[in-house]
Amino acid sequence: MTSQINNPIGLNKLVFDNQFVQQLPADSEESNYRRQVMEACYSKVLPAKVSKPTVVAYSKEMATQLGITADDCESEQFANVFVGNEILEGMQPYAMCYGGHQFGNWAGQLGDGRAINLGETVNVENQRWALQLKGAGPTPYSRSADGLAVLRSSVREFLCSEAMYHLGVPTTRALSLILTGEEVVRDMFYDGNPRKELGAVVCRVAPCFTRFGSFQIFTSRGEIDVLRQFVDYTISTDFPHLLKNNKSLNKQVYISWFEEVCRTTAEMIVHWQRVGFVHGVMNTDNMSILGLTIDYGPYGWLDDFDPDWTPNTTDAGERRYRYGQQPQIALWNLLQLANAIYPLVEEEQPFQQALTMYNETFEKGWNTMMANKLGLNEFKPESDAKLFSELLALLAEAETDMTIFYRKLALLDVEESVETLADEQLLEPILDAWYRLDALTDDYKLRFANWLRKYMLRLQNAGVKQIDKEKRMNAVNPKYVLRNYLSQLAIDKAEQGDYSLVNELLEIMRHPYDEQVDKEEFAVKRPEWARHKAGCSKLSCSS
Ligand code: AMP
Ligand code: MG
Repeated sequence: MTSQINNPIGLNKLVFDNQFVQQLPADSEESNYRRQVMEACYSKVLPAKVSKPTVVAYSKEMATQLGITADDCESEQFANVFVGNEILEGMQPYAMCYGGHQFGNWAGQLGDGRAINLGETVNVENQRWALQLKGAGPTPYSRSADGLAVLRSSVREFLCSEAMYHLGVPTTRALSLILTGEEVVRDMFYDGNPRKELGAVVCRVAPCFTRFGSFQIFTSRGEIDVLRQFVDYTISTDFPHLLKNNKSLNKQVYISWFEEVCRTTAEMIVHWQRVGFVHGVMNTDNMSILGLTIDYGPYGWLDDFDPDWTPNTTDAGERRYRYGQQPQIALWNLLQLANAIYPLVEEEQPFQQALTMYNETFEKGWNTMMANKLGLNEFKPESDAKLFSELLALLAEAETDMTIFYRKLALLDVEESVETLADEQLLEPILDAWYRLDALTDDYKLRFANWLRKYMLRLQNAGVKQIDKEKRMNAVNPKYVLRNYLSQLAIDKAEQGDYSLVNELLEIMRHPYDEQVDKEEFAVKRPEWARHKAGCSKLSCSS
């Protein structure tokens, strides 16, 4: 995945080519106070200066990809640049204007309330990377908040961005995690218990940070000229392949573009479902136009497989953004995007078709993904649809660790004879996946063993060899995921000034599909103490 860039050019030689600010309309007001920003895509704003930047962690791969050397990463300048204290030549900092639907309701202008883009750097491979500091101080879009971020949420964003990348899930990236030296007050559960926390800044990296809500804001205000300008810019800059063969920007290209967004969004959601990731706040301002996972807030990882689970306490009532509902929510969000770009096309039919395509792409992708998770060489609708749904029902019925289950299932020897294996022998390889073995009823075990027989027969009929099955499964079923309690342990230590666990988790998550025998302790079930602990099983939007 990482391209080999052997000779990084160095931090001071990064080339900036800030197309976003050069091509799009700017807010004419340049002072930094909170306001509604009309007929503009962004506002110029500088990051706040901080007293004592300290690097907690950085991503080697991301640095290399950008052209930043290993020595740069250890330098004082690196800390100063990626905390916002020093602006490199060529950088043109700005905050973006966008809106969004939050929890199903139109929320009006949101915007980069605490994210400041430094500019777009183009690396030796001609890849365009936008650099964005999260938590770098107030902007015109900060509304009633402070524009800052705390260590707790920044550790979570930093680690998860890189973990997702190595898991093969489309995502924005993270270059660095830096303490500011400032204190930030947060009331974590909005229950009247504010405390001082450590301020931090994450430098996020992506080809662009454009969201569904980036388009919605203009349509909602009737600023159709700006909408068209932004759509044209996005297609030309981030989807240039749609303009191959001298195609000019027209309705057909707008539709092809929307279709591509539908497709990449569907593919992203298939990945989320594969690894057990729950975003937690799938508002339209948190949906990337590139189909990347973006805005790591109160996200979570399924420990036990529970389709109804959401980590976000703010969403505890409705559970709008629960694991099992993510595919439908993405569709709903795409519908909002369709509404936003409708004025450029003024025909309903092509949008309907594209949304149907989303469903088809998701379903096809999901079936293939499930087939791979189970080691099948292909998806056969007549037998496999039922095989999958029966399994998922069984997994949800008793508390079963999703990640451990699929890893252990790979060990079930498909070349054994189904008739001679007793139920206990069949269940033996996967026993470790259940949280409470003593709670499993005989009836449940019988039904599970029967499912395993059906599964083995399905593989045997397809002539699948054990070695191939195991390989196929272990390539898509991670051994290591960023379990919620692991991040919390890393945060607890980091708050005491010990960054070792943050860096150890970063290292482990660089190879999530490898056995890493000396790291077994990071691949075990969530411990009992973490079941209801804040940060481990429940998170809020406070960050
Ligand atoms: P989120 O829930 O993180 O997607 O944020 C929704 C909106 O609130 C975005 O416009 C954010 O930039 C803004 N926001 C969140 N936290 C802060 C903060 N501490 N200061 C300023 N704006 C914030
Ligand atoms: Mg957001």
